[in-house]
Amino acid sequence: MKILVIEDDDAIAEPLGLGLRREGFEVARVSTAAAALAAPPADLLLLDLGLPDGHGFELCRQLRARSSVPIIIVTARDDEIDRVTGLEIGADDYVVKPFGFRELAARIRAVNRRSAAAAATTGSGPQRIGELEIDRRTHRVYLAGDEIALTPKEFDLLALLAVDPGAMVTRRDILAEVWDPHWYGTSKTVDVHIASLRKKLGHPDWIETSRGVGFRLGISQ
Ligand code: CA
Repeated sequence: MKILVIEDDDAIAEPLGLGLRREGFEVARVSTAAAALAAPPADLLLLDLGLPDGHGFELCRQLRARSSVPIIIVTARDDEIDRVTGLEIGADDYVVKPFGFRELAARIRAVNRRSAAAAATTGSGPQRIGELEIDRRTHRVYLAGDEIALTPKEFDLLALLAVDPGAMVTRRDILAEVWDPHWYGTSKTVDVHIASLRKKLGHPDWIETSRGVGFRLGISQ
């Protein structure tokens, strides 16, 4: 996944690029609004509001007008008005400096998944993965044509894993998205729901476990 960092301050951009690469992202960086508009497409934009050749809000509006690429605003201003304005003009999330890389990485993955899920559900019917059919509109799941009764949490868990079948989703991301971003409970909760979901899907291979990391939706059925 390629991230474009739009930031004029080297003292921020350099460690940011380093930290993001360490989290497994591919990173490109530009220092001006003009360069951001001319840059090759990326999968997600991290946008600093204070740029030398224009306000970040205006740039955000311009970028949003021509593409639906996820945009996270990164700024030093912890100002309620900025926060609201940023989201109103089409940013997907907002991070206030200073922030931790793990927090930022989790937000990047969350924004990316939401945008992938939105793309997967816009104007299309249920998602099909082999014999599995997931209908996000009605919250119903079918296996070989038969409906499987899932609890709301089991459904959310399956829908999250199905956003990108075969891709690893960490426990931390599962807890943040299916439960609550501020969930401080035990990650045993995840195991319990995974076990129950596996049982309902009837074949353990539907959900693969990577010990200590997370889970992925099997695509070999
Ligand atoms: Ca700046």
